[in-house]
Amino acid sequence: MVRPAVAPDLVHRMAAVVGAEHCISDPADLLVYECDGLTHGRTTPALVVLPATTDEVARVVKLASEAGLPIVPRGAGTGLSGGARPVPGCVVVGLSRMTRVLGVDLENGTIRVEPGVINLDVSRTVQAGGYYYAPDPSSQGVCTVGGNVAENSGGAHCLKYGFTVNHVLAARVVLDGGEVVDLGGPALDPPGYDLLAVLVGSEGMLGIATEVTLRLLRKPEATRTFFATFPSTDEAGAAVSGIIAAGILPAAIEMMDRLAIAAARAATGLDWPDVGAALLMDADGATAEVEHVSRRAVEIARAAGALEIRIPRDEAERQLMWKGRKCAFAAMGRISPNYLVEDGVIPRSEIARVLRDIGRLAEEAGLRVANVFHAGDGNLHPLVLYDARAPGEEERAAALGREILRLCVRYGGSITGEHGVGAEKAAAMADMFGPDDLETMARVRWGFDPRGRFNPGKVFPTPRLCGERPGPYQPHPLELAGQAERW
Ligand SMILES: Cc1cc2nc3c(=O)[nH]c(=O)nc-3n(C[C@H](O)[C@H](O)[C@H](O)COP(=O)(O)OP(=O)(O)OC[C@H]3O[C@@H](n4cnc5c(N)ncnc54)[C@H](O)[C@@H]3O)c2cc1C
Repeated sequence: MVRPAVAPDLVHRMAAVVGAEHCISDPADLLVYECDGLTHGRTTPALVVLPATTDEVARVVKLASEAGLPIVPRGAGTGLSGGARPVPGCVVVGLSRMTRVLGVDLENGTIRVEPGVINLDVSRTVQAGGYYYAPDPSSQGVCTVGGNVAENSGGAHCLKYGFTVNHVLAARVVLDGGEVVDLGGPALDPPGYDLLAVLVGSEGMLGIATEVTLRLLRKPEATRTFFATFPSTDEAGAAVSGIIAAGILPAAIEMMDRLAIAAARAATGLDWPDVGAALLMDADGATAEVEHVSRRAVEIARAAGALEIRIPRDEAERQLMWKGRKCAFAAMGRISPNYLVEDGVIPRSEIARVLRDIGRLAEEAGLRVANVFHAGDGNLHPLVLYDARAPGEEERAAALGREILRLCVRYGGSITGEHGVGAEKAAAMADMFGPDDLETMARVRWGFDPRGRFNPGKVFPTPRLCGERPGPYQPHPLELAGQAERW
């Protein structure tokens, strides 16, 4: 594979657009951008530019595109599938300077923001008016709206309120030639193809979102939370199925297994007991309904075998319980030098069986797996623990992760629920989709980005065709010149 160097002239022209201090080409400074939250794969970009406006993004993209360089958009770099990981010779376009709130319309429940705005800052901006932004990834204190849109991010409360796609009303997008298009709009159900829905979840492969209009929700009148412990994930899984089968739609229902509880306890000092599994559930809505629903859910949890039910005494204790859940990934550092986050989906009814199968696979691989996940929608997050210093352990962890995803597919699920495919799971796409499915997706991609400038090499399995382009095989001019090879 060739690594095109960035011509000094291009660096100067980029610097003229964004300012020299926002154009990074020093090899030491570039190291900061060589991976995202999936740290076990790294590539140093050729150049990083940090534009501040849509116009600057458009000019930067046009320059990179005319120079024939790949473009990798980047928000906060918290992605867990290598989506913002650079590709060789690329220009990383970082959106971290685009943090302005462009307009708030509480009467219509909308907010227009730049892509670098942090998820939690959206809610902070409107909380005094009684509103909030519902999608709440555990990383919401640091991840950006642009990254959320590109990944169609979810979170604990997406069971009731839906993923990012349900909360984006419009987006301004820069395409590969520097064209600026507006998708969607404040009015519901606009005519024509729903290109906004295509953009959400497109993992930075169609263009760069430079403005996003989000839907805001009224804060619920009441929220009731309980934390329930169980002897094992079997009883906890039965409780989840029972609660939902009773017609209850919790705002969130999260499960942790013994290892995840131990890690959260070590990281936060919470006095959570050493048990096989725990559930953390929120019910929200009108007070009378919430009281009824949470009482009923507690009864079902007890009938399923709950050992103990804890109800937070006040909002501070409730927040602490949620902190225990939301810090669970990072808390793994307390019990393992390294870990790999997987993100598979299974039918909710299969939780107990799949967790047992994961335990068996882990045992066979000689590794530990902690589970902390969105139980209500069957979105598992097996955390494969390993020690990168032990020879071969990282490879075994990756192989186990891949095997777990295959298991999810065998149970009728998916290789990703919310973290995206990125670089990590591109090969696993073939476990779920046939050649015709993949080719149809690739055609959509090429419709937006005919030269494949944005985030090449992500999502689609190893290119079968010239640069992922659908249709018969065409050798790339660089291949013909003997400068690049197909891999
Ligand atoms: C501790 C931890 C917990 C997490 N918990 C959750 C969770 O509960 N739910 C969940 O869904 N995810 C979770 N994540 C994953 C991650 O935070 C999300 O995927 C998030 O949306 C990524 O946002 P980012 O700003 O960091 O994007 P990045 O990682 O920088 O980029 C992600 C993708 O978006 C593209 N992109 C970024 N900005 C733009 C833009 N403006 N236009 C077009 N493409 C763009 C990139 O090219 C890349 O493909 C977690 C991550 C961590 C580290």
